[in-house]
Formats: sequence, structure tokens, C-alpha cells
Amino acid sequence: MCIFCKIVNKEIPNNTVHENEDFLAFHDLYPKAPVHVLIIPKKHIENFHSTDPETMAKMTPFIQEVAEKVGVDKTGYRLVTNNGADGGQEVFHLHFHLLGGGKLRWDHSHEDPHKSL
Ligand code: AMP
Repeated sequence: MCIFCKIVNKEIPNNTVHENEDFLAFHDLYPKAPVHVLIIPKKHIENFHSTDPETMAKMTPFIQEVAEKVGVDKTGYRLVTNNGADGGQEVFHLHFHLLGGGKLRWDHSHEDPHKSL
């Protein structure tokens, strides 16, 4: 069972921000911004590329509620999902990083920006 499924099953503790029948939002253990919340579906989906439109449609208002709950809906935030190896995905259970609480830098450059595909 993956680590986020274990969190859903309460086998691993988490700092919950918001929850409903289908989704869970909790603080990232190693925050990369003053606000860093992970938002996951409770059912196991490997990543964004393997998700379905119904899940995404339901997830949208949930993510908006999370942003309101942590107080970044008006100040702004960044929503990120790492997909697969090149995307830097480490946990293979779909999750969105909601980052905010201060001005964020934009630093998502390629390891070798001069390399052509
Ligand atoms: P990613 O690299 O996009 O797969 O992100 C995985 C994220 O999960 C990282 O930001 C980790 O800090 C975070 N993480 C890993 N284990 C836990 C945990 N037990 N509780 C909260 N966050 C976690």
C-alpha cells in the first residue's frame, strides 16, 4: 500500500486541513512555503495523467475550499502536481501541492536548459 493510502487509512498520522468523502488535504511534512498543503483523492490514482475527468471535476471545488480554509484564496497561491519521473514525482498517488502564504519564486528550470529534445 502506498504512503498516501496509509494516511487515508490512518495508519500514518497527518495534520488534516480539510476532508470530505472523496478527498483529504493535509500539511506537507517538509513545507517548501509558509503554506504547503497536499490535496489527494482518497482512492488510489497514480498521478494526474491517469486520473479521470469526474475526479478532477469533483476535486476542483474541494481545492478551492482548502485555499479558503488556509486563507490564501485572496492573496494567491500556486497549485502544482508533479507527474512521473521527469516531473519529480516521488509519491505515486495523485496529489496537488497548494503553496502560498508569501510571494513565491518561479524556479522550475530544467537541469540542462540548453539540451534540445
Ligand atoms: P512529490 O515529490 O510531488 O511526489 O511530493 C511528495 C510530497 O509528499 C513531498 O512534498 C513530501 O514532503 C511529502 N510527504 C511525504 N511523506 C509525507 C507524510 N507522511 N506526510 C506529509 N507529507 C509527506
